[in-house]
Amino acid sequence: MKELPLIARARIHGERIAIREGERSFSYAELLETSASIAARLLDGRHDLEETRVGLMAPAGFDYAAIQWAIWRAGGIVVPLSVHATPPELAHALEDSGTELIVTTAEHAARVAGNGRRVFLVDEIAKAAPCDLPEIDPQRRAMILYTSGTTNKPKGVVSTHANLQAQIETLVEAWAWRADDRIPLFLPLHHIHGIVNVLGCALWSGALVETFTRFETDVVLPRVAAGAYTLFMAVPTIYSKLAALLDRESAAHGAVVRGFAEMRLMVSGSAALPASLHRQWEALTGQVLLERYGMTETGMILSNPLHGERRPGSVGMPLPEVEVRLRNEGGEDITTEDEPGEIQVRGPGVFREYWELPHVTDDSFDDGWFRTGDMAVLEKGYYRILGRLSVDIIKSGGYKLSALEIEAALLDHPAIRECAVVGLADETWGETVAVAAALETDTAVLGLEELQRWGKERLSPYKLPRHLLLVESLPRNAMGKVAKREVERLFSAPR
Ligand code: ATP
Ligand code: MG
Repeated sequence: MKELPLIARARIHGERIAIREGERSFSYAELLETSASIAARLLDGRHDLEETRVGLMAPAGFDYAAIQWAIWRAGGIVVPLSVHATPPELAHALEDSGTELIVTTAEHAARVAGNGRRVFLVDEIAKAAPCDLPEIDPQRRAMILYTSGTTNKPKGVVSTHANLQAQIETLVEAWAWRADDRIPLFLPLHHIHGIVNVLGCALWSGALVETFTRFETDVVLPRVAAGAYTLFMAVPTIYSKLAALLDRESAAHGAVVRGFAEMRLMVSGSAALPASLHRQWEALTGQVLLERYGMTETGMILSNPLHGERRPGSVGMPLPEVEVRLRNEGGEDITTEDEPGEIQVRGPGVFREYWELPHVTDDSFDDGWFRTGDMAVLEKGYYRILGRLSVDIIKSGGYKLSALEIEAALLDHPAIRECAVVGLADETWGETVAVAAALETDTAVLGLEELQRWGKERLSPYKLPRHLLLVESLPRNAMGKVAKREVERLFSAPR
């Protein structure tokens, strides 16, 4: 019988360890066996779960991987659900996707019950007798993954098995994944970063994934110090937290620094990595972070090179099998460097459709090219992300300003720990630049005048901030992305 390539490959990896969860280790053979049992229970006498949406709600670990494989092997569509979702977020994902079955752990069962849904507890079904499993066409829908909801209500991104395989193969090639790689997984498993870049690539390669239910320095750093990993993938907020810690307590963390220094690759993505943090990380650990760019709809698109210069503030060049073009507002291709345009993408990893949103899907494609909604500019062969058209491109006095560029310049100010730039409606200018900033220490002071003085030395006058709001911290989602709509609201809220 023809099996999904992920499954066929796991048979070759057999007794190798696939997942380590605390003190326990699970082999590829165990993952195959358990997922076959769960698949049999889900099928429950039926031949195939084609088109059935099956919710997956489990903390990162062996159960998560076994359930994911089981749903695929039974022919169904995986709908990853966040264990940290609020009730309205969860309701949106469940109702929008029309999820009928759910596999979860006893701890989470109560949250997903209701509305006629059938809930299976993984502990109870992991030992069921196996049965014949259906043959799966690679063009079949494999997953409905909700976007981060940074700009709007999360949209259900439908990817086929072929899409996911292409996204994985691209990264396995570009970053030279190997069976002897070992990687920690502490990112949420309802986002592409954790699902494809870490779990998907590792299990495809016969590598080892060590899972954590969340990122906690007390738990992860001793493992780094022990040399447990060859690879490390995280979001900028995690690197920022780690850099602050290593900077403060460098003497106490010699072994941790060595652990980072000896890894073969450390990657950052999901949001912009400040160039200053890129440089600080290299100064602290000797590791040059590799920044990449991608999204739920396409998998990874642009990446700094594995071998070659990894440029701070840039996301590199198109990955293998991914075609990229920049287009201006008039719909013309940009063929020269230094001229900004929207990133458009074509390739086998690009998703099939937004779930039950045919008009949104249609509007998102331009003769076969997916319109990412992100602006970028090509500089000396490397792409630099300018931000989202909808929230990060500020239209002021006839100029189009990049919030990300202004943020990067202001972030270097010694008093600022983190900041977010948004455009506020203005009668004269259209929009003006507004900054929400959290300060480095309780005793730090910062006024608009000082911010403008700092900005003047680094930015053109029309990019200077006109409003400053001091905040304790920026509103961020589970991936550490700044929720720009909420930042906008902070400026209009009565203070
Ligand atoms: P929604 O589509 O619901 O608004 P979202 O776009 O944040 O949410 P994701 O698919 O998780 O959902 O995130 C993809 C987006 O993250 C990209 O479109 C881009 O704006 C941003 N992004 C990813 N990597 C980077 C990076 N290295 N630098 C800057 N932005 C990045
Ligand atoms: Mg998006």
